[in-house]
Amino acid sequence: MAYAYDDQNVFARILRGEIPNKTVLESEHSLAFHDIAPHAPGHVLVIPKGPYVNFDHFCLDATPAEIVDFHRLAGQVCAFLEAQPSEGGAGYRTISNAGPHGGQEVPHYHLHILSGRPLGPMVQR
Ligand code: AMP
Repeated sequence: MAYAYDDQNVFARILRGEIPNKTVLESEHSLAFHDIAPHAPGHVLVIPKGPYVNFDHFCLDATPAEIVDFHRLAGQVCAFLEAQPSEGGAGYRTISNAGPHGGQEVPHYHLHILSGRPLGPMVQR
């Protein structure tokens, strides 16, 4: 079954400049911005500029250039948050929700990067 991308989703509208965002970093194929309702002192979303619905869509259909660009920007966000354990930071968590069981609200692939406090257990049992 093909992936159906809804170009009216809020992140598509951010990418078109129709609604504002608090940009952290931008690259050729990706954008990082502060989550509007942060769950931690540091809560940044990284999104590809291309029309990908979720993690598996991005992994399977994005170009190698898009995939590398996305992850390089995500690494730069970890540095921006001063969260890299190798640099004396206290660490962070990345999360990507997909579909109903994942609790995905916005149907444009995004990686949450959370930092700034202990983040508790991975998921509820
Ligand atoms: P998810 O549940 O993984 O789809 O997460 C969607 C995230 O997008 C939530 O953490 C929201 O707070 C965030 N969000 C929704 N609208 C905006 C917006 N306009 N700017 C920044 N973050 C947003």
